[in-house]
Amino acid sequence: PENAVSGISDSGVKVVVRMRPPIKEEEEGETIVQKISNESLSINGQTFTFDSVANTDATQLDIFQLVGAPLVENCLAGFNSSVFAYGQTGSGKTYTIWGPANALLEENLSSDQQGLTPRVFDRLFARINEEQIKHADKQLKYQCRCSFLEIYNEQITDLLDPNQRNLQIREDVKSGVYVENLTEEYVSSMKDVTQLLIKGLSNRRTGATTINAESSRSHCVFTCVVESRCKSVADGVSSFKTSRINLVDLAGSERQKLTGAAGDRLKEAGNINRSLSQLGNLINILAEVSQTGKQRHIPYRDSKLTFLLQESLGGNAKLAMVCAISPAQSCKSETFSTLRFAQRTK
Ligand code: ADP
Ligand code: MG
Repeated sequence: PENAVSGISDSGVKVVVRMRPPIKEEEEGETIVQKISNESLSINGQTFTFDSVANTDATQLDIFQLVGAPLVENCLAGFNSSVFAYGQTGSGKTYTIWGPANALLEENLSSDQQGLTPRVFDRLFARINEEQIKHADKQLKYQCRCSFLEIYNEQITDLLDPNQRNLQIREDVKSGVYVENLTEEYVSSMKDVTQLLIKGLSNRRTGATTINAESSRSHCVFTCVVESRCKSVADGVSSFKTSRINLVDLAGSERQKLTGAAGDRLKEAGNINRSLSQLGNLINILAEVSQTGKQRHIPYRDSKLTFLLQESLGGNAKLAMVCAISPAQSCKSETFSTLRFAQRTK
């Protein structure tokens, strides 16, 4: 019944800005961002327009309907489909992509708190079931396998087996781009996926919840390869299709301070700033290519994140970006910088 999924954008990147409610010491009255329509907001008298603006009262289900449901449909239609959460530390990226990290790790997440990932897989498995029944004559069968990794300081760690550090990205004609030795687990229910999430998130550096912990300086990528095979009714010949889902909780977008840092810390800060700005540049280029149809050199190899996601960024890939912002006065300059980033990707 809900097949008429709104917001499948056929070009560029779908950008949703989500403002979280004030928390703890932040005052309600302090709110500096006003939503003025479903697509626009104002801050300091300046108006910004996006595909969607989600206010402090937007639920996890609302966000799923905006970007999660289209992601599933896009994936089943054969497109590599990704959602990125961008924003400063504490703005709600993790809440959006997985759900509140504390509750998730303690396994007491209420169903309305569930973030995009559990909802996406719940929907994916339901839709796969429907499709398999609908195409039973062709013996349509799906298989899904997931991996979960962290990119920290340009090094890849397997979150499903944290002994595997500094994994390498490889590329070959048969498999395309892949991470060597990365753990992949078959999944067939939301429960399977939630177990992987809990396992992976508990393996994140210094825990997923401490603000300014190392976890806020790493990108976290949950990938599902969705494979289907079916037989032609006419001649019995099998055909295969593969597409990917990527759910990406990006490193905090606050500029890492280079002043006063030295040695490893300096290198790390430089790497984080670079990989975020490279992602931004790349998405800019992709948006431009899709609008103008002009070919441009695309610098995927400039960072681990873009190299890894190469096949999910260009070409026929579908991208959505949830730009998370805080309503607080104290976050104003980072909020501006997130909104400018979000605007650039359009
Ligand atoms: P980030 O991952 O960007 O650092 P988090 O997702 O951890 O930020 O969010 C910071 C805090 O705000 C957490 O305690 C989280 O549960 C809470 N939070 C974020 N977004 C929302 C929201 N939309 N509704 C309620 N609480 C939220
Ligand atoms: Mg986080």
